[in-house]
Amino acid sequence: MKLSIVIPCFNEELVIDEVYRRLMTLMNSYVEKALIGDYEIIYVDDGSTDGTLSALRRIAGADKHVKAISFSGNFGHQPALTAGLYHAGGDMAVSLDADLQDPPEIIGEMIKRCEDGADIVYGVRDDRQEDGFFKRVTATAFYKIMTLMGVNLIFNHADYRLLSRPALDAFQRYGEVNRFLRGMFPSMGFKHAVVTYKREKRFAGTTKYPLKKMVSFAVEGITSFTNFPLRLAFVLGFVNFAAAVVLGLWALATKLEGGAVPGWASIVLPIYLFGGIQLMFIGVLSEYVGKIYMEVKHRPVFIIRETINFDKDQGKSP
Ligand code: UDP
Ligand code: MG
Repeated sequence: MKLSIVIPCFNEELVIDEVYRRLMTLMNSYVEKALIGDYEIIYVDDGSTDGTLSALRRIAGADKHVKAISFSGNFGHQPALTAGLYHAGGDMAVSLDADLQDPPEIIGEMIKRCEDGADIVYGVRDDRQEDGFFKRVTATAFYKIMTLMGVNLIFNHADYRLLSRPALDAFQRYGEVNRFLRGMFPSMGFKHAVVTYKREKRFAGTTKYPLKKMVSFAVEGITSFTNFPLRLAFVLGFVNFAAAVVLGLWALATKLEGGAVPGWASIVLPIYLFGGIQLMFIGVLSEYVGKIYMEVKHRPVFIIRETINFDKDQGKSP
């Protein structure tokens, strides 16, 4: 059994060596225990501007288990994961962050769950104590709202997961450009299992997910996975329409009774109300139209400039 490990890296020069050391020690112990037969560690350099790529060159030069993919620029966390998983040559693949917040030591447990029959094993954090107040509240709200809108998400699961070969092959058939992996995998079917862990502090460096990226990631997740906001537009529009009919009848009746008083409020308030609602949902519509636009262009999800240590025919481009 060969295991692939996929690690997206964006300006992670401070952690590269440590994550390699931790993983290599762990993998060698798994090989000794015959839990795995062989392994490969695939680093994806997502257009880093620091010393990440040269560190990868150095490590890959000394150890053939280490492979690297280098993008032509910064395409983002999800495209980096996608590229790594497309290149994974193992019977199982695990993806994890470069900063050691996801402790690699639970991979053994994940492998056992996979051997017990699960095709997807989700790493789920047991709490959010390591996060700041703001991230904790917004992240929890995000999972709750997504669930309410009917998106199948695993609560408190990020991108630390193990995939069997059948799940990896299925993943390659998803052609979408807008990618929200933690929504894609639960939508695939397959038997799944969960392994919980305690999320650590970032080993070194700073987060590569500033607020702006977090917000666009959340919008991405919603608009890629549910039409609920569009349906909400219809429901609200319908309620408004019904209310307008009642109000219209009432106005007509009042007029027929001769009691009509020329009113400013009754004219101006609906204008505000309907204007606001219309603008809001034109916004929602544009979000989806924009998405269609991006999908129709069918741009590559990532562009590779260089690969290191891969076999000749390993990995395909989407
Ligand atoms: N990452 C990436 N491209 C990006 C942003 C992040 O490949 O544009 C990687 C990053 O190097 C790390 C992982 O995605 O391995 C998660 O990022 P980070 O740890 O900064 O996010 P946080 O844990 O703070 O949410
Ligand atoms: Mg992190």
